[in-house]
Amino acid sequence: MEIIGRKTLVLGAGKSGIASAKFLAERGAVVALHDKKPIENWSDEARSLKNEKVGLLDGQIPSWLLDQIDLVVISPGIPTNTIPARYVDRKDGEVIGEVELAYRFLKGRIVEITGSNGKTTTTTLIGEILKNAGIETQVGGNIGTPLLSLTEKATDATWTVAELSSFQLETIREFRPNVAVCTNVTPNHMDRYDFFSDYAAAKHRLFMNQTAEDVAILNADDETTAAWASGLRAHVVLFSVRKELDEGLFLRGRELVCRANGKEKILTTRDRMTLRGIHNIQNVLASLAAGLACGASPDSMRETVRNFKAVEHRLEFVADVRGVKFYNDSKATSVDATLKALEALSEDDGEIILILG
Ligand code: ADP
Repeated sequence: MEIIGRKTLVLGAGKSGIASAKFLAERGAVVALHDKKPIENWSDEARSLKNEKVGLLDGQIPSWLLDQIDLVVISPGIPTNTIPARYVDRKDGEVIGEVELAYRFLKGRIVEITGSNGKTTTTTLIGEILKNAGIETQVGGNIGTPLLSLTEKATDATWTVAELSSFQLETIREFRPNVAVCTNVTPNHMDRYDFFSDYAAAKHRLFMNQTAEDVAILNADDETTAAWASGLRAHVVLFSVRKELDEGLFLRGRELVCRANGKEKILTTRDRMTLRGIHNIQNVLASLAAGLACGASPDSMRETVRNFKAVEHRLEFVADVRGVKFYNDSKATSVDATLKALEALSEDDGEIILILG
């Protein structure tokens, strides 16, 4: 991708916008970094970018400027139908997100995780699985480190494990993960989307550039993702906690089983993991499927799953005070996530007290 001398507009001066502006300026683009917020309220890091290559712009974007721009990099928080993006798009300029920009410079292979719930847990676990299997691994995306920052260290041998949100997926074009995982699709962000199906369509974009050489890992228990299985170009691997599959990974009693080409293997059991709840079995099955697709050995994966503790704020055990166990699940910010947490805790004897708000 040619960057030198390109006139670019970066929309949004948050983490992703900062990473994009820096990256583009370092490679010779002329950058206007914009945010609606007054510049005095931007982060120090954003304000410090101002130099001869990067101009800072707040409030309204002057109408004449858009005509000069040939690349817009749009932050995930900004709706893609915003006028600056539409103007430049119509003028045959390119409108992409930071993830797409990163993809064009990222060496090695990619495992990508999306879903309404369980993204961070699954991404973190897959990262651990690959690392412990001796694979050169880096983890980023929506989970923290912008994907663009990961382009620096990646080599042809690197696997990048990336968590992506539906917002980020809206602005990909060529992005093609070698292994793509969707944990589930349940109503979320309905302030951004007109219909549930629009939200699901954003998630589905993850698979749009995959080919028969790639792997798509889908939840067979989720109506939306199960319906995708027959239409994808990638090789599909399903997982289920509700039923035994002819092919794929599933829960049978307390065993996590993989069945492929008529052969079965027990990968681990519920008693050998500290993660709680059926929803986490889904996350583990998805992660094991990804590990297998990347060539991790079942023995090393079993060990990693056994040692893996809940990520902070995700049904995280905090303390036992006079027989009362406290769990922090403050990342359960959707109805489905809260229900899953309550289901997980109701496997214990005793009363559940839910503190919300
Ligand atoms: P995300 O990154 O998608 O927000 P997390 O792994 O951070 O997902 O988990 C957030 C919350 O969602 C957890 O605290 C838990 O209550 C719930 N959760 C995790 N995994 C699942 C899942 N597979 N299905 C439903 N809910 C889940």
